[in-house]
Amino acid sequence: MSGCLVIVSTPIGNLSDFSKRAARTLEDSDIIACEDTRMTRKLLALSERTSTAKLVPYHDHNGATMRPQLLADIGAGKIVALVSDAGTPLISDPGYKLVAACHDNGFKVATVPGPSAPLAALTVSGLPSDKFVFAGFLPPTTRACEAAIRDIRDLSMTIIWFETPRRLLKSLTLMSDILGPRLAVVARELTKMHEEVIRAPLPDLVAQIQRRKSLRGEIVILVEGRHHGDSIFDEIDIKIMLQGELRRHSLRDAVKTIVERTGLQKSTIYRLALEVNKATTPE
Ligand code: SAM
Repeated sequence: MSGCLVIVSTPIGNLSDFSKRAARTLEDSDIIACEDTRMTRKLLALSERTSTAKLVPYHDHNGATMRPQLLADIGAGKIVALVSDAGTPLISDPGYKLVAACHDNGFKVATVPGPSAPLAALTVSGLPSDKFVFAGFLPPTTRACEAAIRDIRDLSMTIIWFETPRRLLKSLTLMSDILGPRLAVVARELTKMHEEVIRAPLPDLVAQIQRRKSLRGEIVILVEGRHHGDSIFDEIDIKIMLQGELRRHSLRDAVKTIVERTGLQKSTIYRLALEVNKATTPE
């Protein structure tokens, strides 16, 4: 019998979402490569039959050592299942190098699809779902986060990010500054007891999150894409941004920052900056 790798999705919070096929696949595998073997053992305890599969850890820190072993097992005819702690493996979780290596070695890769936070969030967001981009976790530093938001500014499709509760407000504030009043959604604790979907234009969303004392749990942020033909920023928005910048920086630097933030032409921003300067300079 030929071996293969099977990618198995597991629940993102509600254990009833563990599919019969996922349970059967794990029961019938020879080896289960898990992000955390303790988490997978809990899941296996839900199965009707006892699994005889050997559980081995597979994560970012041991992937390079584990891959050759797992490939040798598959080559020897074993069925290897890959699971992450929750959701679909490879989606901001380990696995893609193992899948690529299986293809390179001519081994079959099969899937048992199921829950995944980005798609679950998209389906409840009420944002356009015909085209979307999943952009992974937002980077932790302000500068890198700004750059990541600027990178997607011109895309006319829904953008999906993972974020932590601790950084949520800062990231939404940066999005509001850079993307303007686009419609956005915070999808929290999906499929769990405290599931919540907060949907509002970015500045309102920032205000709502600010009012909350603490926001815990697992979070997905979604933002609508750019409407082509529409200007996201009107002149009043830009003048307000320029006023803030001109209080702290030279006219040249303020113009540079706002050009980067809005993606609009330098000549337009320069004209508006001169108007702001004139209005705020005493005669
Ligand atoms: N592979 C997983 C999947 O397919 O859903 C995602 C793994 S990633 C390491 C974990 C992140 O997914 C969390 O930090 C959070 O942003 C998001 N997430 C996971 N479960 C969630 C849930 N129940 N509700 C909202 N977001 C969730």
